[in-house]
Amino acid sequence: MDLKDCLKKMDAAGRLAHVHTEVDAVHELSGVAAKLDGGKAVVFEHVKGYDYPVSTGMWWNRENVAAIFDRSVDALPALFAAAVGSLHQNPVAPVVVDDAPAQQVTMPEVDLGRIPVPTHALKDGGPYFSNCIIVAKDPDTGVRNTSIHRLMVTGKDRLGLLMDMGRHLRNYYERAEAKGEPLEITINNGLHPAYFVAATTPSSAAPIDVDELAVASYLLGEPARLCRSKTVSVEGLADAQMIMEAEILPYVREPEGPFGEVSGYYAARDDRWVVHVKAITMQTDPVIHMLHPGREVWIGQGLSVESNLFQTISKQVPGLKKVYMTPGGSHYHVILQIDPPNNGMAKNAILAAFAAFPDLQMVTAVNSDIDIYDPEQIERAMVTRCDPAKDIIIIPGAFGHELNPVVKDNLAAKMGFDCTYPVPKPESYTLVSFQDVDIGKYLSLIHISEPT
Ligand code: MN
Repeated sequence: MDLKDCLKKMDAAGRLAHVHTEVDAVHELSGVAAKLDGGKAVVFEHVKGYDYPVSTGMWWNRENVAAIFDRSVDALPALFAAAVGSLHQNPVAPVVVDDAPAQQVTMPEVDLGRIPVPTHALKDGGPYFSNCIIVAKDPDTGVRNTSIHRLMVTGKDRLGLLMDMGRHLRNYYERAEAKGEPLEITINNGLHPAYFVAATTPSSAAPIDVDELAVASYLLGEPARLCRSKTVSVEGLADAQMIMEAEILPYVREPEGPFGEVSGYYAARDDRWVVHVKAITMQTDPVIHMLHPGREVWIGQGLSVESNLFQTISKQVPGLKKVYMTPGGSHYHVILQIDPPNNGMAKNAILAAFAAFPDLQMVTAVNSDIDIYDPEQIERAMVTRCDPAKDIIIIPGAFGHELNPVVKDNLAAKMGFDCTYPVPKPESYTLVSFQDVDIGKYLSLIHISEPT
C-alpha cells in the first residue's frame, strides 16, 4: 500500500476532500489547509505552475488514520503500541525490491523547482518539505535509521536541514563529519502512515542500534520495502511517491529558516546543515505529500509517543491505564490515567514519563474515574485532587525540546501535576453518579407529548 492507496481508503470512508480550484504553492495552499485543519484530509488537485497534486491532513484527526488502518479510533493506541513492542520481540527486517514504484521515473536533471513544495506560514524563509522520511546508515555500524526533519528548498539541488539535538541522524552526521565525509541519505516523500509511525518512534523505544523500520513492517503486515539508490549507498523507500538521493555536506552551514513550527511559533533563521541532492526519482503520477505544521504533528507524533510511553512507564510503575498527548499541548503535555497501588507512585510515573520522552514539559496524572479526553474532567481533578504544596513536581534545568521557546540552550524546568487521590481512596473522592438509562426511550416520549 502506498500513499495513493491510503488516499483512496480515506476517500471511501468520506475522510478526503478534493480542492479543484487552482492554488498557489506560496502561502495560498497552506492558507486553505489552515481553514480545513482538523477535518478531512485534502488533495490539492491543481497547484499553479506544477504538474503534480499535493495532499495534506492525513494526521489532522484520529478518524483519518483509523480509516487507513481499518480500525476504530480506540484501537489505534494498542495497535501502535504492539508495533513498537515488536521492535524488541520479533522485528521483521525490511526487504530490497528491484521494481520500486518510487523509481519509475528519473528526473533528467535535478531541479527541485519542478516539485510543488509549499511555502507554508507567512514568515517562512522559503518552500519547506515538512514530513519527508530521511533514511541513513550509521557510518560505523551500518544500522539503518529513519527519521523526519524539516527541509527548506534553497536551490535547484540544495536544501537547508534541521537536525535537532539528540537525534540519531545528527549523531551519524557528526561521526561522518569528523572523518571529513558527507553523510549519504535518501529523502522519501509520500508514504503509508506506517512509515511515519516508524520514523517518529522515540529513541527510548528504538535505540541507536535498532532499525525502526520493523515498526512499519508490523503495521503493514509485510516487510517494509526498500530500493537500491543510483547515486548513494543508502536505500530509499520503494513505495514513496518521490525519492531524493542526497548527502549532508561536511563543514558546510548556510542560513535556514524561519519556519512556522509545530509549537505554533517561528523557529529563527540560523546557519544550519546543508543537503546536496544528487538524483530525484518518482512514481509516474506522484502525489506530493505535505504535513501542515501544527495539529498534524501533535496527532501523528502523539499517537506513536503515547504507545511508547505506555510501554515504557508500565514496565516501571504499576497501575497505568491510558496515556493521552493533549492536542493543545503540542506534544509537550501528556496525561497519564493511573490507579497507583501505593501513595507516591503517581509521582514515580510522572518521572518515568519525563525520562521516556524528553520533549515533555508537563505531565498530569489522574485516576481511572477521570475521562482523560475530557478537559473539564481533567480540570476538576486538578483543582480537587492536586494539593499544590505537595503534588506539583518541578524539576529545574532538565533537557528539553529546542523548538519550544521556553527551552533555552536545550534546558527548561519540567512540571508534573499529581491529580490522583490518596490510597486507599477516601470517601470524599467518590464522584457523583446517577442511574444509567436509555435516553432515546425518554426523548421519543417527550417528543410525542410535545404540543404541535
Ligand atoms: Mn533511530
